[in-house]
Amino acid sequence: MTLREKSHVHVIGAGVAGLAAAVRLSQEGHPISLYEAAPRAGGRCRSYHDPQLDCVIDNGNHLMMSGNHAVIRYLESIGAADRLVGPPHADFPFIDVATNERWSLRPGAGRIPWWIFSASRRVPQTAPWNYLSALRILNAGASETVADCVGTESPLYRRFWEPLTVAALNTDPRNASAQLMQPVLTETFLRGSHACRPLVARRSLADTLIDPAIEALAASGADIRYGTRVKAFAYANDVVCGLEVDGETIRLAPTDIVVLAAPPWIAETLIPGLKVPPPGDPIVNVHYRLPNANANGDTVRIVGVIGGTAQWVFARDNLVSVTISAATDLVDKSADDIARACWHDVAAALDLEGAEAPSRVVKERRATFAQCPEALALRPKTATKYANLLLAGDWTATGVPATIEGAVRSGFQAAALASRGHGTAASLSSTYSAPKQIEATCR
Ligand SMILES: Cc1cc2nc3c(=O)[nH]c(=O)nc-3n(C[C@H](O)[C@H](O)[C@H](O)COP(=O)(O)OP(=O)(O)OC[C@H]3O[C@@H](n4cnc5c(N)ncnc54)[C@H](O)[C@@H]3O)c2cc1C
Repeated sequence: MTLREKSHVHVIGAGVAGLAAAVRLSQEGHPISLYEAAPRAGGRCRSYHDPQLDCVIDNGNHLMMSGNHAVIRYLESIGAADRLVGPPHADFPFIDVATNERWSLRPGAGRIPWWIFSASRRVPQTAPWNYLSALRILNAGASETVADCVGTESPLYRRFWEPLTVAALNTDPRNASAQLMQPVLTETFLRGSHACRPLVARRSLADTLIDPAIEALAASGADIRYGTRVKAFAYANDVVCGLEVDGETIRLAPTDIVVLAAPPWIAETLIPGLKVPPPGDPIVNVHYRLPNANANGDTVRIVGVIGGTAQWVFARDNLVSVTISAATDLVDKSADDIARACWHDVAAALDLEGAEAPSRVVKERRATFAQCPEALALRPKTATKYANLLLAGDWTATGVPATIEGAVRSGFQAAALASRGHGTAASLSSTYSAPKQIEATCR
């Protein structure tokens, strides 16, 4: 068999990136083995039953946008295109809890942002010309931060650039790469309202993004192994020839391909010399179980919060979830203190009265890589020095932030290279330094 025929593909990591690669390749007829260290799939995008709240919660709210075309294609491929919900129009309600002021950001249709000329659609206390700062971001140099481009003193910074950057890049705008904000603007806000409708999973992340993929893979006969941590690769002649898992070495056939879709801190332990971007800030989520529903059935309310502890509030049925990104200053506080501080903002955002609802605080310390200018050059390409080894993951060089959209794109890119047989080792990553073979005993 040549690499152009349907190679057996070993996908390591059942997060969104690994699943996107595995689903696409299995639909092309490739035999798939999927290795996941955790007892379930999903990685940083997972759901589980919380005994304290007695309901299913996500590790964190995941906001997607209608312009996330790879996410949409991925969901279509797993029969879950109807499992994202959001408002019918691009509408972002905000509250400033310091002043109790409310407004809605409502981008208009079309690529020319005429909506900035409407006081009722733009951020209060801003003028249309303030939005020209977007041009500075679109023309930013590699070393510039968002704050370098837009300044930090204006109401537009506090009420638009800061919440948008923190949400999209999980990084304070004073450290966040301006270049990484470019696709956020060009693929959503600057394409018009049809591309910037906020979307979230209808019931849970697992129900929308993970379980349908696992079902599709299982139906195609994929070999899915949970609780299986790949501990090392065996290399010979610049190919991976074996996978070391608990107590076993899985020998690979010469035509087999490996897609490594594990996080960067794992990838660098498996591939000698691989340079990866450093970890970024934590993300903290708080889930409250209300006595009564605040949003009906399959609908969701999303409110941005300025001037509080909470940043975004999501209400679905009787579950209210709060997201705080770039949460370095918060993450070491006690769960009780975090829940109490956020409840104040939730009550204001949703007009709730009464005692604080029971809650669960979820702290994700390694939520994304550090999305600062210096880190971007460390995002490796999909192809590696090893002819049959490809990388996927939100931290690879997708050109977009570390998001579900980025993870899916990375998986699709790995699948595209794998289905072309990945070719030769010519596509050496620029961030690669000379690898040492950890084992060369496959033959
Ligand atoms: C709290 C939080 C909130 C977020 N909010 C948003 C949001 O609003 N919008 C958005 O688009 N994105 C958001 N993100 C980012 C999004 O979750 C990630 O970009 C995406 O899930 C990354 O997927 P991935 O497959 O690249 O990596 P991962 O999800 O990390 O998947 C890697 C998988 O590899 C497995 N693994 C690791 N080592 C091994 C090994 N040795 N062998 C086998 N398996 C291994 C892991 O268990 C994991 O399942 C958020 C992330 C967090 C944590």
